[in-house]
Amino acid sequence: MTRFRCVPMDPAAAARFRITGTDDRGGAVHHRAVDGPGFPCRACLRLGLPGEAMLLASWDLPLPRGPYWTPSPVFLHARDCASAPVEDSIPETVRANPLVSLRHYDADGMCLYDLGVVLPGEAAEAALRERIADPRVAFVNIHTARPGCWLTRVEKA
Ligand SMILES: [Zn+2]
Repeated sequence: MTRFRCVPMDPAAAARFRITGTDDRGGAVHHRAVDGPGFPCRACLRLGLPGEAMLLASWDLPLPRGPYWTPSPVFLHARDCASAPVEDSIPETVRANPLVSLRHYDADGMCLYDLGVVLPGEAAEAALRERIADPRVAFVNIHTARPGCWLTRVEKA
C-alpha cells in the first residue's frame, strides 16, 4: 500500500498573511470569527472552533506549476497555529467537508483527468488510497468541490 502525507500551506505564506495583512493577489487579508461550519484552517489542517479568529486570503498555490496552476481562497487561524503534515491519514478539514474534489497531477504538473473524482469528504481516504498508487501520480490537491478552495496537498510518503 502506498503511504502518503497531507501537507498544509507553506508556513512562510501563513506568517506573511498574518504579519502583512496583504494576500498574494495584493488584496487585504479579511478577518472572520468562526460562527459555524466551514472554517478549515490550511495552516494546521484543523477546523476552526466556534469563536476562533480566522483570516481569509488568496494564496498562490506552489503546485501545480504550469497551465493547471491556480490561486485559492484559504482560511487560516489568525494566531500562529502549529503546522505539521498529517501522516497517512486524511485531515478533519477534508473529512468534514460534504463534497470535495481530488485533482491528481503528474511530475510535470499535468492534470490526470482519468483519476479525478468528486465525492463526500468522508469517502476521500478510500478513493485516494485507490488512486495514489498509480505510478503517474506525483501529488494530489484536494479542493472543496463547490467553491473550489484548496484544502491540502497529498504527497507520497
Ligand atoms: Zn490553524
